[in-house]
Amino acid sequence: MGSIVLETRDLSKQYKTQLALNHVNLRLQQGRIYGLIGKNGAGKTTLMRMIAGLGFPSQGSTYLFGTQNRRELEAAGKRIGSLIEAPALVAGMSAKENMHLQCLMKGMPDYEIENELLELVGLKDTGKKKVKNFSLGMKQRLGIATTLIGNPDLLMLDEPINGLDPAGVIEIRNLIRKLSAYENKTILISSHNLPELYQAATDFIIIHEGEIREVLTHEELDDRCKCYISLEAVNANLLTTVLEEKLHTRNFQVMPDNSVKLFDFLDERERVGRTLHENDVIVTKFSVCETSLEDYFMSVIGGKKNA
Ligand code: ADP
Repeated sequence: MGSIVLETRDLSKQYKTQLALNHVNLRLQQGRIYGLIGKNGAGKTTLMRMIAGLGFPSQGSTYLFGTQNRRELEAAGKRIGSLIEAPALVAGMSAKENMHLQCLMKGMPDYEIENELLELVGLKDTGKKKVKNFSLGMKQRLGIATTLIGNPDLLMLDEPINGLDPAGVIEIRNLIRKLSAYENKTILISSHNLPELYQAATDFIIIHEGEIREVLTHEELDDRCKCYISLEAVNANLLTTVLEEKLHTRNFQVMPDNSVKLFDFLDERERVGRTLHENDVIVTKFSVCETSLEDYFMSVIGGKKNA
């Protein structure tokens, strides 16, 4: 298990009438890529802003590399790079000129590192081409290069693939993987689209209405998206009672429409049908399905989880 890079304890943020974060407790391990997934307005940007020190939480605390003291972090050479909202790029400048400007602004002008970072993000050969003529994917990669100035250990990227075409999504995905695999960076990357992040992230954090609804690894997500038996009955309460008391399982999920996803007994469907019938459950639907990533996401933020 890698060391803990970031920990939030009971982090909350209230904007006037809007509770944007509600007691968020998170622990991020070094070298992993966390996909922060939530619909628009879920609280993703607010969470990143609080971690980056771009705003003050109403309650709770953030520990970075075990400390709350940002000066101590700087002294230890521990850095956070963040790309929150649009990258601050100058449209009339080339990639190299933008990098140099950003390095100057951060007090670290170094042509070698500027070139190295441009190479890392695949923009070394763009020459004099101005940023205003870049594709959105190229702009995002340049934005990511600027966050890498100072060699941060934790990178936070807010919706970096939003609006990109499929080729742009692949470019960013490959870059993120490279940063994690070769540089052992911890990356927190947000999106409103779980399938889009599925290929890039090693772990997923599902946020809804300011609350962390679920944190799960890629393997766990795969497991949750496996096959299930979809059941509907005239009396949904009786159905779940029979599942629990007669089939001795809690490995099911009740959906908002009262249908039930049963993750057990896929090879014993007859037994399920028979047991329900014997216990007076009037079944109106019985089918075998597979959950898509999007279905799973919706079930976490909208459905009742039983298990
Ligand atoms: P996301 O990044 O997931 O789209 P945000 O963190 O931007 O979500 O927003 C979370 C909630 O907080 C939303 O309801 C949003 O309207 C509200 N919010 C965000 N920033 C502010 C602000 N500066 N003032 C008031 N409300 C805000």
